[in-house]
Amino acid sequence: WRSKRVAVVTGGNKGIGLEVCRQLAGNGVAVVLTARDEARGAAAVEKLRGDGLSSVIFHQLEVTDARSVARLADFLKAHVRKLDILVNNAAVGGAEYVPDLVYPSATNDDPFAGMDEGQMSEWMQQNTRETYNSAKETLETNYYGTKHVTEALLPLVHSSTDGRIINVSSVIGQLRYFVSEELKQELNDVGNLSDQRLDEMVAAFMEDFTAGAVEARGWPVGFSAYKVAKAALNAYTRVMARRHPELRVNCVHPGFVKTDMNRLAGLLTPEQGARNVVAVALLPTGGPTGKYFALGQEAPF
Ligand code: NDP
Repeated sequence: WRSKRVAVVTGGNKGIGLEVCRQLAGNGVAVVLTARDEARGAAAVEKLRGDGLSSVIFHQLEVTDARSVARLADFLKAHVRKLDILVNNAAVGGAEYVPDLVYPSATNDDPFAGMDEGQMSEWMQQNTRETYNSAKETLETNYYGTKHVTEALLPLVHSSTDGRIINVSSVIGQLRYFVSEELKQELNDVGNLSDQRLDEMVAAFMEDFTAGAVEARGWPVGFSAYKVAKAALNAYTRVMARRHPELRVNCVHPGFVKTDMNRLAGLLTPEQGARNVVAVALLPTGGPTGKYFALGQEAPF
């Protein structure tokens, strides 16, 4: 482990996260595969070891639990001392879906390719159901959880000579889904944005969601918490990149991938989706920071 680069992957027990662990380990990186469930995480590590990848270990991590996050940080400080690559992959889907979900115009990149924002929102409203609990869980996991993990592990990333943070985002988190120009501009104005302000904006969304004012306030409609969480994560990525120019902090859309998150309706295999993430994680030293990548290419926020 001493001579290798070390990576932590959140939500590593299945889907894209598991394949990210496999590919990083296959590229000579020592991987701490984390999962909220001990049994599922340990089984995933056994699977990778059975495939000959011996430099993978397990550590429990529930990203919404401060004590669990602190335990992982303590473990890394004691045993590994530095973290070269943090892949923030863990997330929840954000809503309940109708059974036998069929995406209307899916491509490898986008489940809603060719649809305008209005058509997509209408489809979302007909085929998914967001509740107060699903919205809250989505923001707590996909945005606040990712942020807390990043903050707790940041000193370890700073101990690497080439520290990288990769936030797994989504094409659905693009700013074009925001109806309010004001919200869009504020989220895009990284020069003036702080993570405290981002927290306030996410909290304001939750208040508007609770009050039934999502549409009236110009937030994205349909699947709104997932979109807001990923858009806030993208903005956080840019804020962190600006604040820590010595690190590489980027976000990446893996493509439309067949996983439990979309009831296996995606088009890419998890292995293909993971390749898009790992390509960013293993960019040559001194590469881009504060960028968004989709299907292996730099793309607009
Ligand atoms: P999966 O549902 O297959 O995997 C999600 C992973 O996140 C699981 O390991 C899950 O653990 C874990 N997780 C969820 N909540 C927590 C939590 N609170 N603490 C720790 N781990 C948690 O989905 P994908 O593999 O598709 O998703 C991976 C990433 O890719 C996500 O960030 C997602 O938003 C993003 N993405 C996926 C797309 C797709 O088409 N699939 C498209 C765009 C982005 P458990 O097994 O215990 O539930």
